[in-house]
Amino acid sequence: MMLNPGKKNFDVIIVGAGLSGLSAAKVLTAAGFTCQVLEAQGRAGGRVRSAVSEDGCVMEAGAQFLNQDMEALLGLVSEAGLDTVSTVAGNGSIALDASSLIDAAPWLARLEDDWPRLLESVGVDSGRPDQPLAQLIRHATSDAKGIRVLESALGELLCRPPSTTSAQGLLELYTRYASERDDGELQVLGPLDAVIDRLVATLCAPPLYNAPVTEIIEKRNGVEAITPQGNYRAKRVVLAVTPVAAKSIKLPAAVRDKAGAALDSYGAGAIVKISLTYRDAFWRELTEPENRHSIGSIVSLDPEGITVTDASRAGEKIGRLVVFAGGTHGQALARADDSRRRQFAVSIPSRAFGTAADQPLSVTQGIWVQDSWCGGGYNSYINYGGLPDAAARLRAIEGPVVFACSEIAERFPGYMEGALNAGEVVATSIIRELGRI
Ligand SMILES: Cc1cc2nc3c(=O)[nH]c(=O)nc-3n(C[C@H](O)[C@H](O)[C@H](O)COP(=O)(O)OP(=O)(O)OC[C@H]3O[C@@H](n4cnc5c(N)ncnc54)[C@H](O)[C@@H]3O)c2cc1C
Repeated sequence: MMLNPGKKNFDVIIVGAGLSGLSAAKVLTAAGFTCQVLEAQGRAGGRVRSAVSEDGCVMEAGAQFLNQDMEALLGLVSEAGLDTVSTVAGNGSIALDASSLIDAAPWLARLEDDWPRLLESVGVDSGRPDQPLAQLIRHATSDAKGIRVLESALGELLCRPPSTTSAQGLLELYTRYASERDDGELQVLGPLDAVIDRLVATLCAPPLYNAPVTEIIEKRNGVEAITPQGNYRAKRVVLAVTPVAAKSIKLPAAVRDKAGAALDSYGAGAIVKISLTYRDAFWRELTEPENRHSIGSIVSLDPEGITVTDASRAGEKIGRLVVFAGGTHGQALARADDSRRRQFAVSIPSRAFGTAADQPLSVTQGIWVQDSWCGGGYNSYINYGGLPDAAARLRAIEGPVVFACSEIAERFPGYMEGALNAGEVVATSIIRELGRI
């Protein structure tokens, strides 16, 4: 069923054409509801964005990895006619100082092993006050080097310094990671943009692009979304945007009362993702200082908040490395020019692997810092001083304006799978509430 393009009255308006919004729209459309997705940017996908490298390879500027437990995403990948491939990275991890190289794996493993104990002793249910994540790290180790490794690794993961982030918020987030598997296990053979196109094709009308929603007004029989392209009415609005982006939308007073403190708990991050390809994964021949494992990742200690991951794929000759620069250094890199970023990205593997890393075949840059619509980082995280249970509070909100985004998903928050889950859950509750099925 095609909708009349001039139509401005719908059952449901969905703000945001990322995976959360498109997944909600798909479920609602399949249930016979009329819905319109309003998207601020000129494209769908949000934090999913495919690119083509200088040597013609499909690269992902945004989200890239998944695992076998991420069933909704795997289903869509298959519907889009794409296959997955295993990531073949070594287990070793090194930390790189200005002058030395150390084995980082024991510190990373220690934090992971300690996670259940930390959850119990200082998590939300412990009854203890929250603390900055930087302090939580010190519960896992008192070794100065270990602290630097973990601060840098978590600074990259959160796209901001651990001192600004709620430890309880992060501990809670990981209770929703519904898998024992590594999150980088698989990659998609082909552009993830095809998954976005596939979702868009299931809707009764394409998203309306370049239509940032600035305000939602509550009306007697529903709600109105205000955009520079006009006003759109519906019985329900789904805010399928990251909490940081939701803060800049003017909400009805009743919604602001319920959601304001939870939204304000989230802070933006900063990430620059630079993918490098090489003739082969020559670093596999190298081992970390203890000489046990081949190197799968590098944690930079100077500057900190930067990691490099081996993203090479099974059955492929070329080698792939991805440099993730988060937080303060990510912000600085976003301001630098292309050649400076390129030089910086290559400098880290060069310091670890030698001059063979100096000449990648291609360098593909994904700069998210300036993208305020998506929050600037992988995800928005809860500030120290915010509400550690902000996600549950946003999920619990019912009524004419509801929230759906990867951050608040019941399963796999912060991942593409989480975004699909959040959209589906919210759509199912709207269907139940509006009583069409
Ligand atoms: C560099 C990077 C790497 C990542 N790597 C991975 C990975 O390997 N694996 C993984 O699973 N996940 C990864 N993620 C996280 C994953 O991409 C996100 O969790 C997920 O895509 C978020 O989807 P979403 O729909 O909730 O939000 P978004 O993708 O942010 O979509 C929200 C949409 O809303 C729009 N919008 C915002 N404000 C408004 C407004 N006022 N009006 C209208 N539209 C608006 C935005 O433009 C955007 O299109 C990565 C993210 C980044 C940035």
